[in-house]
Amino acid sequence: KAQEGRANEINTCIACNQACLDHAFLGKTASCLVNPRACHETQVSLDPLPESERLSLGVIGAGPAGCAFAIAAAQKGHSVTLYDSQSSIGGQFHMAKRVPGKEEFHETLRYFEVQLAKHGVRLEMNTSISVDDMAQDASTQKWIVATGVDPRDAKIPGSEGNPNVFSYIDVLKHNAKVGDKVAIIGAGGIGFDVAEFLLHPGDDGAKDKRANDVSIEEWWDEWGVDPTNKVAGGLRKDDDDTSKGHSSSKPTR
Ligand code: SF4
Repeated sequence: KAQEGRANEINTCIACNQACLDHAFLGKTASCLVNPRACHETQVSLDPLPESERLSLGVIGAGPAGCAFAIAAAQKGHSVTLYDSQSSIGGQFHMAKRVPGKEEFHETLRYFEVQLAKHGVRLEMNTSISVDDMAQDASTQKWIVATGVDPRDAKIPGSEGNPNVFSYIDVLKHNAKVGDKVAIIGAGGIGFDVAEFLLHPGDDGAKDKRANDVSIEEWWDEWGVDPTNKVAGGLRKDDDDTSKGHSSSKPTR
C-alpha cells in the first residue's frame, strides 16, 4: 500500500497486545484488536455477495465496532448507513487517543475514515436513532446496534452529586479540573489511562498530538532512550546528560 501511495489505507497497530500476544500466550488463536478478521481470513469472507442477497443496513454507533462492521458489510456489497449521535466517528477512541502513549489511536480513526469513504458507507452524524425511528424506516432491512458501553456506576454512598467525584469521561473527554491530589478507584486499563493522563499535565493541544507530530528526539527524551547505545538495553540513566545531546531533561516515563 505504501509503495502504491495508499499509506492512508494502512491499519496501524495500536500496541495493545490484547488479541495477538495475549491470545498466543493462552494458546488461543491470535487476532488483532483493530483488525478482527486477522487469522480468521478463511472463516470471515469479505467476497461480494450476489445482488439478490444484498441488504440495506443501518448501523447505530460509529465507534470501532460500528465502523469495522460497516466497512466489512459494505465490502460484501450491502448498502450501509452509519449513524452516531456525535459529530464524528470514533466513539470512545476519542478519549483513548488523548492518553499519553496512545497516540496511535488517532491512526485507527484515520484508517476507519478512509475505509468508510472508500467503500461508500453513508455517514449520518449528529443523529440519534430511537426504536420508533427504526420501526418507521421501511427502507432499512436490518439494524445493527453497536452503541458501546456506559461507564459502570460504583454506587459509592455519597458519590452521587458530589462535586469532588468524577468519571473517566469527565477527565478524558471534558478536561475536568481534579486538583493536586487524586484517588483513582479501579486499577484496570482505564484507571491506568486516567493516571497517565493526569500525570502528564499540559495544554489540551499537547494531548491531542498525533504520533507523527512528535520528533524522534522528543520521543527519545520522553521514553528515556539512549540513542548512543552506551548503556545496556539502550535506556538512559536519569542523571545522564552526555548520552543524549538533545536535552537535559529527565525522561518522563
Ligand atoms: S492486537 Fe492488533 S493492534 Fe493490538 S498489538 Fe496486536 S497487532 Fe497491534
